Formats: sequence, structure tokens, C-alpha cells
Amino acid sequence: MLRGKRILLIVSGGIAAYRSLELIRRLRECGASVRCVLTEAATRFVTPLSASALSEQKVYCDLFSLTDESEMGHIRLSREADVLVVAPATANALAKMAGGIADDLATTVLLATDKDVIAAPAMNVRMWEHPATRANVALLQSRGAMFAGPEEGPMACGERGMGRMAEPGEIVAKIERYFAAPLSGRRAIVTSGPTHEAIDPVRYIGNRSSGKQGHAIAAALSGMGAETVLVAGPSPEPPPAGVDVIRVETARQMLDACVAALPADIAVCAAAVSDWRPADAGVEKIKKEPGGEPPRLELTENPDILAALSGAGDRRPELVIGFAAETNDVVERAAGKLSRKRCDWILANDVSPGAGTFGGDSNRIHFVSAQGVEHWPRMSKAEVAARLAERISRRLEAAG
Ligand code: C5P
Repeated sequence: MLRGKRILLIVSGGIAAYRSLELIRRLRECGASVRCVLTEAATRFVTPLSASALSEQKVYCDLFSLTDESEMGHIRLSREADVLVVAPATANALAKMAGGIADDLATTVLLATDKDVIAAPAMNVRMWEHPATRANVALLQSRGAMFAGPEEGPMACGERGMGRMAEPGEIVAKIERYFAAPLSGRRAIVTSGPTHEAIDPVRYIGNRSSGKQGHAIAAALSGMGAETVLVAGPSPEPPPAGVDVIRVETARQMLDACVAALPADIAVCAAAVSDWRPADAGVEKIKKEPGGEPPRLELTENPDILAALSGAGDRRPELVIGFAAETNDVVERAAGKLSRKRCDWILANDVSPGAGTFGGDSNRIHFVSAQGVEHWPRMSKAEVAARLAERISRRLEAAG
């Protein structure tokens, strides 16, 4: 995603500075080139040598270094970058940025740049909540600065609260969204995974689903800049970076979470929702009596989330997309679902035994819309997600 992108990483001096080394590594893995500027205080937490080894570039620290200025110059540092990232951004660094103070190389570059700036604040909770910091952040935001984090959690000082630097993976996700943002300003809801419908407190019925495809779609949409809400049933898949994950168990909870997440421009229903649920789940475990009759389950129908979102009237997302997992007559059945559920597209796949779709990493999609059917070649679930996200982006762009 970041292949060929040039990132100027400014590391200011806080305890989170050591995590900027991990950030350099992650950015390099994504194909970006990283040039680092360390403040004097940052060099107390990480050595320029470590930053240089990981970035494989010279590291710049000193505004008054004759060699650095003659070789590079602080203006060129900014000119040769596609974006500036300040991570960690201490309260002091944010204050200087807001106030236009340029008293070292890092702050001089930040004042002299015409490039966008993404800051990842890191500080003690009270510093973050101090009215001075709140005002500085608001001012920087009003000037177009972007922020990754901070997050809530335990801090190096032994306290807990808002102010931890965002995970390096989250910062990378934010940078990716910045660069590949054809869907920026768009909002997406994605359902993923199975639902579990309680029979009693320990047993449930549910469909087979790994959540791999839905999670990959959420990651792809978010990677293209969409603000993405992933409503996930029980799935072992890790939450994709940069995505707002709402965990649910049942179809009814999934529906409520989707409706609460409206309005949205895009809805992708990739969850394998259980069509039915036990009519009345007891609060006590059903006992197995020796020699007794097995219990009979009475089932009742679950709400159809895809149909509900398609029929949401003036709250209907512009593009509503469903999946159809079929074992036979795949395309015909998918076309039937498209008209019955009144969605825009159906991605149909063959889940018959031996097709390798369930739990596997690849998928073969038949893309069904009012315009007809396209047969996509077998590809990885991540590729299906990328192709779908690309398609969504083109369609929304064409619609204006
Ligand atoms: O009818 P069927 O379950 O095959 O339809 C599949 C599509 O409908 C999928 O997109 C699935 O996420 C969605 N669906 C739903 N709510 C249900 C059942 C299916 O959103 N109760």
C-alpha cells in the first residue's frame, strides 16, 4: 500500500519513542521509505543509530550541523517527503507546532513544511486532558493536521487513561488511509463471522464461518479511506487495524448494531447469519437425563439484516452488497436473492464440500448485479476484498 511513499518521521522525546522504531520497521515492510528526524530529547530514549539501522538512511538531529545542512538542508527534508509523521508527538511538540515555535530541527521542519502532517500524540493522561493541550490539538486540527490516537490504557508512569501512543499498526493504517483514500469521507458497515443463537446458556446453533472474508473487506475499505464499522459475530480473526469493531453474538444484536451504525454509504453483509434461532432459550442448561428423550428444538426466524438495510428507506446505504453461499445452482440462487433482498450486488460463492471456501484462504466469486454476472477467477480472500473495495469506489465515484 505504501510502496514508493516517502515518509519523514519526526520523533519527539517521550517514553513512547522506543515504539517509533517498530513504526519504522512496519512502514518499511509496507514499502515506504522512511527518513527520521529526532529531537534532542528523543535521542535520550532511542539512539540515532537504531533509527538509522532500521530506516537504512541517515538520521537528522541537529539544526546547526554544517554537514547536514550542506548535504540536505531542512527545507529539502520536507520537500523530499510525501507526508510528515510525528510519532510520538509529546505535549511539548504539539504546543510548539500550534504556537509556530521553531527552536530545533524537528520544529523548524514542521514550521517550514507545506506537506500534510499526521501526529500520534503520547503523553500522560493529565497532560492530554489539560486545557492547553486540548486547545493546541483543536488548533492543529483546524489547520488540517491529522491525528492517529492516542489510545486509552496503562502508561509508563503507572497511571491509566487516555494518552498512550496508538499502536504502530494503527499509525500505519492511518497513513495508508491518507494515501489511498478514494473512499475518504465515506462510511461503511461490514458484517462478518457467524452468529451464535443460544439453545441454553452453554449450547448454541450457528453457521460455519471463519469471518476471514468479512474482516478482509473491512480492512480493504478502511485501507481506501472509508470510516469502517465492522459488526463481527464470534470469529477468531483479529480486528483489522483502523476499523471500529463492534462484537455481537446473535442475529438480533447484529441487526441492532448495524442499524445503530447508520447512516452509511456502503453496507457489505458478509456474515453467515443463522436463519433461525431457538424459539425460547432457557436460562438454565437443559439436563441430559439418562435414557431420556433428546429435547426438541422449536425454531423461529431471525431478522434478515441484508434485507433490512436494503429496505431502510431514506436511511438505506447507497450501495448494499450481500453474499450468497450456495452448494448448487450458485448463480441462479444468487440472482433470486438479489431481487428478493433488494440489494445492489451479490457475491456468490460455491461452498460445496471440496470447494475449499469454508475456513480457507481463497474464494471463487460470481459477481451478480442487475447488469448480469461476472465470473471472477479463484483468488485469495484478501484479493476478493481489494477487488470489491476497488469496485465500490469506482461505482460511488461514478454516481458522484
Ligand atoms: O439467504 P442467505 O442467508 O443465503 O443470504 C445471504 C446474504 O444475506 C448474506 O449477505 C448474509 O450476510 C445476509 N443475511 C443477513 N441476515 C440474515 C441472513 C442472511 O444479513 N438473517
